[in-house]
Amino acid sequence: MNDIKKWKLQCDGKEIVDILNNKNYNAIYVNTLDEAKETLLSMIPNGSSIALGGSVTLNEMDIIPHFRDGDYKLYDRYQNLPFPEIVEIMRQSMIADFLITSTNAITKKGELVNMDCSGNRAAGIIFGPKKVIIVTGANKVVKDLDAAMERIENVAIMNAKRIRHKTPCANTGICEDCNVKDRVCNYVSIVKQGGKFDGRITVIVIGDEIGY
Ligand code: SF4
Repeated sequence: MNDIKKWKLQCDGKEIVDILNNKNYNAIYVNTLDEAKETLLSMIPNGSSIALGGSVTLNEMDIIPHFRDGDYKLYDRYQNLPFPEIVEIMRQSMIADFLITSTNAITKKGELVNMDCSGNRAAGIIFGPKKVIIVTGANKVVKDLDAAMERIENVAIMNAKRIRHKTPCANTGICEDCNVKDRVCNYVSIVKQGGKFDGRITVIVIGDEIGY
């Protein structure tokens, strides 16, 4: 990445970490994806149960094999199983020790904004898992909720394409506010601040462009 672009993302990342800490999240700034992975793993004791939110960032971090092979109980929603069985894993994962996921957007007011297809990630960030660890690139920082929703629409189009859902946008690259069964934009959650349960939500912000 261009040095100036990287520098700006680092500045944005540090700024949003201060904003998030002032909004009672546990926010941590790191420079690289590797540092984020190291920080994340240092927070999870062996034997913990782990739930995963659908995330390109987690894929880029290549963290899932670590949880599969390590001393953890992984609610593994990425197995090749019939959809009703995956839904059952998602249901059980609502009482995990840790939910590991990313976020679609973070506003400069410290709001975490997420759009979900099935709702497990949006719901789990709000309530259920004992702790939530969100890993995000500084590229997801936006001014306000309007900018967050604009960002999320673009992300949804790319996600529909990525997971091969049969939506109009996956063909045209344009949102048509569809009503098809495979629609990926079904549930929106907004976390306004992180202080309801002390230390429950950690946000690891990478000063880089990561994920969608
Ligand atoms: S509402 Fe439908 S068309 Fe629009 S982004 Fe979501 S899945 Fe795609």
